[in-house]
Amino acid sequence: MFSKILIANRGEIALRILRACRELGIKTVAVHSTADEDAMHVRLADEAVCIGPPASRDSYLNVAAILSAATITGAEAIHPGYGFLSENADFAETVEAHGLTFIGPTAEHIRMMGDKITAKTTMQMLGVPLVPGSDGELTSLEEAREVADKVGYPVLIKAAAGGGGRGMKVAQTADDLEDAWKMARAEARAAFGNDAVYLEKYMDRPRHIELQILGDNYGNVVHFGERDCSLQRRHQKLLEEAGSPALTPEQRDAIGQTATQALSKMGYRNAGTLEFLYQDGQFCFIEMNTRLQVEHPVTEMVCDVDLVREQIRLAAGEQLGYTQKDISFSGHAIECRINAEDPDSFTPCPGTVAVYHPPGGLGVRVDSALYTGYRVPPFYDSMIAKLIVHAPTREQAIARMQRALDEFVVEGIKTVIPLHRRILEDPEFQKGDYTIHWLEQFTAKPH
Ligand code: ADP
Repeated sequence: MFSKILIANRGEIALRILRACRELGIKTVAVHSTADEDAMHVRLADEAVCIGPPASRDSYLNVAAILSAATITGAEAIHPGYGFLSENADFAETVEAHGLTFIGPTAEHIRMMGDKITAKTTMQMLGVPLVPGSDGELTSLEEAREVADKVGYPVLIKAAAGGGGRGMKVAQTADDLEDAWKMARAEARAAFGNDAVYLEKYMDRPRHIELQILGDNYGNVVHFGERDCSLQRRHQKLLEEAGSPALTPEQRDAIGQTATQALSKMGYRNAGTLEFLYQDGQFCFIEMNTRLQVEHPVTEMVCDVDLVREQIRLAAGEQLGYTQKDISFSGHAIECRINAEDPDSFTPCPGTVAVYHPPGGLGVRVDSALYTGYRVPPFYDSMIAKLIVHAPTREQAIARMQRALDEFVVEGIKTVIPLHRRILEDPEFQKGDYTIHWLEQFTAKPH
């Protein structure tokens, strides 16, 4: 096992990793930008190294500075968290080339899944069902037209290098196709420096259901069930549940088996998430994330597992030590992402937190790096906390989340807590009756 780990991230996820390390008796090294000198992850870590100015590209994405920090502190492994360098195959490779362990999958698998076209063809070969669409990259607008005619409108043009919902454009009819084609490519070129695109049928009422998996270095792969992340705004998740209100245990077992078999054949190791669109009883793979997800806590609550601890253990070369039949699911969990944003306009609201009082009590978990007097910097993601509840049934989890949201005090900055309250009391949400389009329609309604 490692004796010291560098955490190449900030905010709540840096704390989350730090907590797992501490319970394993592992020393921690925090890295931070000059804007984060007073951050909680810096205060709680055993050592902290400043790696650059506020802009992420100069600090949290600064590979040379992060590697120097690891070297001077004698860290043996680096946990990248999510975002920043977590899905950067070159970074994973460089870390390993310096004799350190990258806590995550191999650089080869990160690269493979980072290109969504390769990800889809690989999964298809391994027997995982896909969203109907083009066989790989589209080479011309004419080809896009042919494929669109075959699968039927509406269609989606997507960037091979896409992420965060960027480089994705819908064509409702044949008349829109040229614009969607041009816009998706231009956005992909600007955001990712790569304008390769592919086409998918635009599904009209799917749910976003994803599967958490873990693999060790010896070919053992298990899954920890699904998360329903259908509640999204601009393709960004806002509220997640485990399990999905739409799935039966038998459907979960079936997709779980398909996924674990595929990843075991690939020799996939460490944590990963397969994302699917689910409609009319069919799962269609869209992409795989080769890292820890923001929403991993809902899985932890229903499976009673510490996924970060598992990531560290597996990266240290330990075996899983359990099989699929040892994993059981208990109750229901919901996570609300609390963003420092205006709950109506969604404009970011950085600033000083005048009062911070998180909720507590039975079945309530708050993953956050906030404290009273903390200044939320304007340079990074606006998510400032995750509120997670766990209860025996979905109905009780909803009641518990409503109670916890009412207790949550964050003063001085605006947050989306009022929006979460409205979602939780909506009858359709309460019935579990929603698709990926539901939240956009809900937030557009006057209230
Ligand atoms: P990104 O990596 O940019 O997040 P994804 O491929 O994961 O892109 O898609 C993000 C979201 O976009 C999905 O969760 C879903 O809401 C929507 N989406 C993606 N593909 C389709 C599709 N074929 N039909 C309808 N919605 C889609």
